[in-house]
Amino acid sequence: MIRKLLRRVFRRDPVSATAVSAIEPAIIPLAQHGISRDHISPASRRVCGTLQEAGFKAFVVGGAVRDLIAGITPKDYDVATDATPEQVRELFRRSRIIGRRFRIVHVMSGPETIEVSTFRALQSEDTHTDEHGRILADNVWGSQAEDATRRDFTINALYYDPSTETVIDYHHGVGDLKQKTLRMIGDPVTRYREDPVRMLRAVRMAAKLGLIIDPAARKPILELADLLENVPAARLFDEMLKLLTSGHAVACLKQLLAEGLHKGLLPLLDVILEQPMGERFVWLALENTDERVRAGKPISPGFLFATLLWHQVLANWEARKARGETSQPALFDAMSEVLDQQAEKLAITRKISADIKEIWALQPRFDRRAGKAPHRLLEQPRYRASYDFLRLRALSGEIPMELADWWNDFADANPDSRETMLVPDRDGAAKKRRRRRRKPGGAPSAGGDSSAE
Ligand code: ATP
Ligand code: MG
Repeated sequence: MIRKLLRRVFRRDPVSATAVSAIEPAIIPLAQHGISRDHISPASRRVCGTLQEAGFKAFVVGGAVRDLIAGITPKDYDVATDATPEQVRELFRRSRIIGRRFRIVHVMSGPETIEVSTFRALQSEDTHTDEHGRILADNVWGSQAEDATRRDFTINALYYDPSTETVIDYHHGVGDLKQKTLRMIGDPVTRYREDPVRMLRAVRMAAKLGLIIDPAARKPILELADLLENVPAARLFDEMLKLLTSGHAVACLKQLLAEGLHKGLLPLLDVILEQPMGERFVWLALENTDERVRAGKPISPGFLFATLLWHQVLANWEARKARGETSQPALFDAMSEVLDQQAEKLAITRKISADIKEIWALQPRFDRRAGKAPHRLLEQPRYRASYDFLRLRALSGEIPMELADWWNDFADANPDSRETMLVPDRDGAAKKRRRRRRKPGGAPSAGGDSSAE
């Protein structure tokens, strides 16, 4: 019954807003869902309390409710209210209105930042969309039922009221969550056209919560994947980062590949995964990331993207050297070319690009184990990340494990034993000398090319 109504709603039936506002939600009591108010974060409790005391409706909404019901600790808390952004802003001293196309309020409370959004109305003929149906601005306020219907998946349209400890469920979200199904609210094709990022969200949510994407929501993805090209590269980057740092990067990327969605995000990934070594490296790096996230350790986006693109850099670097380019400048040119190709799809921020380049640029320096070079490398601020990267290269079989072990021991050793550990650059230096003698004018390499062997 509701599903039939929603089909009409998303076909922009003019009576729809009134019809949707008449949807009677299920009110689920504490005894059934088990989330008491002390399960939610202090800041989200405070924000809801302050808004309610001022006479507004206020609920914890979306991911946090979903995760709590699924037994996962929420990453952050969102609050939905019938107060306008200006009214919210007035109630909280430490708050600011952000966004232009989707205005919300950030309320800061202790270490937390709560995103407070005003109930959105259903889209109408006036909704500002582009020629593919993508919604460009979304700042028309509506009822709670409309707000629920505008959310993407049924499991994300759950509202938790801390004052009554009830969950308000407009679209059978709790049932779907229990049945491990990710179901779109409304017609999936229309909803993906409104916002193609929902395809990526589907993959991320399914991987994170171990859900099956409902066939109706899954089937159109292959056909609509190209719509991602139409999404601003900065938004895709944010979403990709969420996906890779979700603690389920391996599952997410596998699903992205299965759905054909990676093409619009990581255009180089296909090529990288075609080579067995590149494939091994990428999966190892993602497994390692997932382990770190799950253990609560920090991860660096620069490191992550550096791993995803490394084998493309290697191939490009090799090709340049084969054409007679000098090793070090060839590496830098390869790095820039790969990052530029990638930037067309994902806007990797300048800061992260700089981090990626640092990690790549330090790799040849691990080949030098004589003289002052190893000491200088240890002092590099990015030494740790670069070493972790080296270790992954060794684990994937690209370079000898002996090299990674040596650096591990060298870093741990005291200054005296470090001196005894230095490996006279027999191979590298002698080879280089010989090469130079054979090729007059041949420039020195970046410090050994074991990375390319
Ligand atoms: P997580 O925070 O774990 O990544 P989340 O579901 O909370 O997951 P957010 O991006 O924080 O994701 O969004 C909060 C809520 O806003 C979602 O649960 C959903 O109800 C709604 N939402 C977010 N993005 C969209 C979208 N693209 N289309 C429709 N609703 C969305
Ligand atoms: Mg969230």
